Amino acid sequence: KERELNYPVVATDFVLMEDGTGIVHMAPAYGEVDYQAGGDNDLDFVHVVDLQGKMMGSYPFAGKFVKEADPLILDDLKSRGLLFRSEKIRHTYPFCWRCEAPLLYYAKQTWYIKTTAVKESLIAGNKEINWYPEHIKYGRFGDWLENNVDWAFSRERYWGTPLNIWRCESCSKYDCVGSVEELENKSGFTGLREPLDLHRPFVDELTFDCPQCGAKMRRVPEVIDCWFDSGAMPVAQWHYPFDAESKTMLNDGRFPADYICEAVDQTRGWFYSLHA
Ligand SMILES: [Zn+2]
Ligand SMILES: [Zn+2]
Repeated sequence: KERELNYPVVATDFVLMEDGTGIVHMAPAYGEVDYQAGGDNDLDFVHVVDLQGKMMGSYPFAGKFVKEADPLILDDLKSRGLLFRSEKIRHTYPFCWRCEAPLLYYAKQTWYIKTTAVKESLIAGNKEINWYPEHIKYGRFGDWLENNVDWAFSRERYWGTPLNIWRCESCSKYDCVGSVEELENKSGFTGLREPLDLHRPFVDELTFDCPQCGAKMRRVPEVIDCWFDSGAMPVAQWHYPFDAESKTMLNDGRFPADYICEAVDQTRGWFYSLHA
């Protein structure tokens, strides 16, 4: 469905006067600064491209891949006397590293851990870490903590630790399941096969009844950022909180980890997820 949109002109600070006209078009659904400016200025948020990168709507170029639609959009503008000038400009662009397909930035919903809620304790905890080399502490790692943003921790891939959230097919109620035992005790639980394997595809067969409406609860399709697994090392190696000997681990000296050694790129990978 199409609706009336607004086309306001807004002032922002990310457009430079050095290049071009100093005016850029904005598409809040297709770029980070555009998205932020859209939120700040209450711009319409509209998707005109689907997840396959094809134009939606009832335009003459609907159904075309965006790059194939480009010349058709220009033709359309020209035929309606709306085109001022058209030219090719060389600039950087993201491509798939495997198949070299051009990629699009695309705003969509995802799962986050609200790390900003514990930002102060992340910063305080960093003061107790001995960093070698020392400049990482308030440099690369400290800066990262100071500029903390919520952790987008779900991934749309097949392999990985499955995100342990089930969603009702009918009323959309969510349930975050914390153990196999909890799952097995759900009313209407079914789909378990021996030997137990909690990865895809097996985990996606595990369903139970929605406590709210009785319809089927299914796992959401996402898996978890692999750095979440890495960061769980201190507790996961003791199978906390499930094994009897693991119960006291948070207070008996086994937590946090004493020592880790890695390359500097891990400040934003393993070091961070371990710390968070
Ligand atoms: Zn590809
Ligand atoms: Zn329900």
